[in-house]
Amino acid sequence: MKNKDNYNYLLADLSKLDGVGKKTVQILKKKKINNIFDLLWRLPKSYTDRTIITDINNLQIGKIQTLKLIPLKYQFPRIRNLPNKVKCRDNTGEIDCIFFNSYEGYVRKILPLNKEVTISGKITFYKNRYQITNPTYLSEDSSLIQKIENKYSLTEGITEKTYNKIINQILKNLPILNEWHDKEILKKFNNESWNNSIIKLHDPDNIQNYEAGFYKRLVYDEILAFFLVNSEIRKKIKKIKKLSKKFSEETQKKIINKLDFDLTNDQKKSLKDINKDLNSKSKMFRLLQGDVGSGKTIVSLLSALNVINSGFQVAFMAPTEILARQHFNLAKRLFPKNISIELLSSKSESYDKKRIIQNLKDSKINILFGTHAIFQKKIIFGKLGYIIIDEQHKFGVRQRKLLSDKGGDNCDVLLMSATPIPRTLTMSIYGDMDLSIIKEKPSNRKEVKTYSKLENKLDDVIKFVKKELKEGNQIFWVCPLIEESKKIDHQSSINKFKFLNKIFPNEVALIHGKIKNDEKEVILNKFLNKEFSILVSTTIIEVGIDFPNANVIIIENANKFGLSQLHQLRGRVGRGTKEASCILMFKSNLSNDAKKRINILKESNDGFKISEADMKLRGFGDLLGFKQSGIKNFKLADPIQNEDLFLLAEKQIKQIEYENKDIGKYKALLKLYDQADIINDMV
Ligand code: ADP
Ligand code: MG
Repeated sequence: MKNKDNYNYLLADLSKLDGVGKKTVQILKKKKINNIFDLLWRLPKSYTDRTIITDINNLQIGKIQTLKLIPLKYQFPRIRNLPNKVKCRDNTGEIDCIFFNSYEGYVRKILPLNKEVTISGKITFYKNRYQITNPTYLSEDSSLIQKIENKYSLTEGITEKTYNKIINQILKNLPILNEWHDKEILKKFNNESWNNSIIKLHDPDNIQNYEAGFYKRLVYDEILAFFLVNSEIRKKIKKIKKLSKKFSEETQKKIINKLDFDLTNDQKKSLKDINKDLNSKSKMFRLLQGDVGSGKTIVSLLSALNVINSGFQVAFMAPTEILARQHFNLAKRLFPKNISIELLSSKSESYDKKRIIQNLKDSKINILFGTHAIFQKKIIFGKLGYIIIDEQHKFGVRQRKLLSDKGGDNCDVLLMSATPIPRTLTMSIYGDMDLSIIKEKPSNRKEVKTYSKLENKLDDVIKFVKKELKEGNQIFWVCPLIEESKKIDHQSSINKFKFLNKIFPNEVALIHGKIKNDEKEVILNKFLNKEFSILVSTTIIEVGIDFPNANVIIIENANKFGLSQLHQLRGRVGRGTKEASCILMFKSNLSNDAKKRINILKESNDGFKISEADMKLRGFGDLLGFKQSGIKNFKLADPIQNEDLFLLAEKQIKQIEYENKDIGKYKALLKLYDQADIINDMV
């Protein structure tokens, strides 16, 4: 097995392992462990040292311990199903060995009377006596007991013993791989080879040794493999030759002059990035990242105009119909009259839909707004040149690649995300894309004043609401779901609606998850048109709708949310010219930790800062549903803990790209770590 570069062993099916039957394979496959390589990343959590002999009077109940015992007396009950029992002693006390489903002969053989044996097992205490049930480690010769056994977080149905046997077998057969790292890189990791690192990873002495060279090397391997894949995807997309889109400063200026504000520097810079890409001869695949309210929409629309003027069509996809409509209306208002703008809505009459579908095919429509429905099979664009996707962090790398392919060679892609996340995380989620960031907020934005209030101070809050309503302002009142179980609990929002409706008759409306989309949209539109002033909701308003007149948001049970989520919710207000406030309500006094978290929110309106702090406190998995979405499931790497290694890998990738280095020497690395073979045909 010790062939050079024989990584095939690692990619082999689990059934290749000795002593691994069909059942075990099935259990492991359920856990997404499909081959030998996958098994390497279940790390020992702790280990049992079976070499230390404990006296009976020092036993710890519930622990696995090793004892030297002398069997004194057998008790073999005549009734079936009762266990066989052996009374034993050492110099300090007595203990019973209990055997279920065993034969007398077996028990007599392994525990002969009056001879010292060493046994090991979990200690229990029953009817005032110590017991060991079915001890697995028995020997007259204590040196035969396996010295140290790793404890893995076990998969149901596989014993610790089996698991250790499997891992030990793999470690014994571990192939020696050719080094893929450069010398200088390797030096940073104590020159640990991959093989050695894996062996050390499973050495009980190294449990949680996260700072050691071998550990960091393995983390770095993983990051680098991931970045290499992304780099190859980027390269591949860039290689696609497309017709370049014309760029006219003039047309753009005309639109900008219509706006009642100036673009921020970051908006200008992003627009320039995008225009340059559109204008180039290679396909654009770009992420526009900017905090809520940073003004991404206008940037995307301005860039779309160039594409239209170059004779191409634009598809603009929003996550909800109301948002699609809002973008559609903005385009109608800003774009010259000769541009044909359409909205494909689930509510469009069927003849209207037919007309839109036909006109799209005939390239008579210049820009189409809609939800994901605009990418249905039956919707065919005559000359699609640009896809814009708003508020979309729910796409994984592969889905994005599909989307980019779908548009065809001449189609540029812009993704917009309102989730400000630290750079290492952006790299992990959107590493296949080029990046433009809008950090700066429009200058007319007022900081949203943020307060925390205990729930029993509701009267104060109502007073505040009355005052705001008098001034003609609108209010969001958020009641999160109490239980996020299958039985969805809207009760708190319904109760609050009833309560508020008594105080402010005809001024309150309610939306929650059970309300149908159509109805929801009607309500939101009425709110936009100021037909009522208080909107009670669960968290549906999180998505990027612009309500310039709403300037107060009240969030109940605020501790139900992460900081980033609270920040996003807060971002719903403060977009108009008026002073805006956010009131966070809590059920009981805050712990010091919770206070610290809330203070971060009160002191900063910078989404990037907040998400960084939030992630340090809660880990990134929790953040805005990234776990289920695009986030890469790293085996060891952690975008927060291993920031330095992410940055190092980024630097190395830039170097590789810049020097146009051959990545052939990373073949084994890529084969092992990118098993979906996304770049199979590239290396
Ligand atoms: P987001 O980045 O969250 O999608 P939007 O594009 O919806 O933000 O913009 C939010 C609001 O800010 C809109 O009403 C928009 O007209 C306004 N806006 C955009 N850019 C500027 C700017 N430079 N100055 C002032 N207001 C702006
Ligand atoms: Mg938006």
